[in-house]
Amino acid sequence: MLSTADALATLLAAARPLGGIETLPTLDALNRVLAADVVSPLDVPPMDTSAMDGYAMRVADLAHGTARLRVSQRIPAGHAPQPLEPGTVARIFTGATVPPGADAIVMQEQAEPTGDEVALLHTPRAGEWITAQGADIRRGSVILPAGTRLTPQSLGLAASVGCAELAVVRRLKVAVFFTGDELTMPGEPLRPGAIYNSNRFTLRGLLENLGCEVSDFGIVPDRLDATRATLRDAAREHDLILTCGGVSVGEEDHVKPAVEAEGRLSMWQIAMKPGKPLAFGAVRRGENTGAHGDADGTFFIGLPGNPVSSFVTFLLFVRPFVLRLAGVKQVAPRALSLRADFTQPKADRRNEFLRARVNAAGGLDLFANQSSAVLTSTVWGDGLIDNPPNHAISAGETVRFLPFSELLY
Ligand code: AMP
Ligand code: MG
Repeated sequence: MLSTADALATLLAAARPLGGIETLPTLDALNRVLAADVVSPLDVPPMDTSAMDGYAMRVADLAHGTARLRVSQRIPAGHAPQPLEPGTVARIFTGATVPPGADAIVMQEQAEPTGDEVALLHTPRAGEWITAQGADIRRGSVILPAGTRLTPQSLGLAASVGCAELAVVRRLKVAVFFTGDELTMPGEPLRPGAIYNSNRFTLRGLLENLGCEVSDFGIVPDRLDATRATLRDAAREHDLILTCGGVSVGEEDHVKPAVEAEGRLSMWQIAMKPGKPLAFGAVRRGENTGAHGDADGTFFIGLPGNPVSSFVTFLLFVRPFVLRLAGVKQVAPRALSLRADFTQPKADRRNEFLRARVNAAGGLDLFANQSSAVLTSTVWGDGLIDNPPNHAISAGETVRFLPFSELLY
């Protein structure tokens, strides 16, 4: 059996970034991947600004203690100031430009205005309440490197230096289909022996969260010819084909022989729980249609059918693979070290990914039923405990926790 680390390393080694760049208005680039560094053409703030409502002054004018000084100008934000007349102060507001000659701001709470004069009750140090030009961003610096996924705050940062457009990587095209004669869509009555196709909803949501363009080929009958035909169809215009179910070795599992006939496939047994079987390979393409993939085809990943298994294997393997194809550099989730507030006396030979929840005391509670068929655990939980092989957990111990916030996007 393969370790989770080795399986991931093999996948990432195959995931060459896709390329293909488009330029989008910054407002439309949310969740996309930057294709080029964003370099700031200016200092931010572009000038020295006041961080307070108050009075811009010269510290030297207070050398003889508290002083009454004349207010020689008024500077609202967005207006250019005059140089500060010696021996006077300027009324100034937050975000306004500090006038040449001033070297500190006294906040209005520490000043007493009377008529056109003001008494300053505080002697500031030089630079007090002044945000220096370039304090946030220096002109010419890389504010967002290529390979960054654009969050709302990164769009704001790009906009703060005046970027109206961003070069982003084109969206990854992913085809999905589902196998199993037992599968029924919600809205249809449930025949005896049937179950609802929950994985379709989970996996499509996961792919859409990652910014993929998803083509859904629906439920494919458990037959070799139908599975092969769908694979050929899907290979044509996609970068990746993702399926779930049918990758075990049961005689109703046709995905394996179908991919082998249409391309090539490695069947992995990963020493993990839930999960275990994972299929990775490529499906031949007739003609080059602009889609990416392996040199001889479109990438193929077959996930196990059990709902929790397919969810967890997606988070741990498909997510980093997809992000890497899209050119994202940082694909590993950041883990937290948290206290286990439960005991799991039985060690498993496999690397367990336990559904757990952060409690009010900041520790972790475990979902009672860790079966790979119990989808409830994934909704109850806040993330996965990455428990190494052969390791029992005692209460109070620190464990490695992967929050869903690090795995779902
Ligand atoms: P398989 O990997 O095809 O052997 O399926 C393993 C288990 O997962 C079986 O109990 C299937 O009924 C279930 N399963 C497979 N595909 C889905 C799906 N799309 N939605 C929900 N359950 C599924
Ligand atoms: Mg099946």
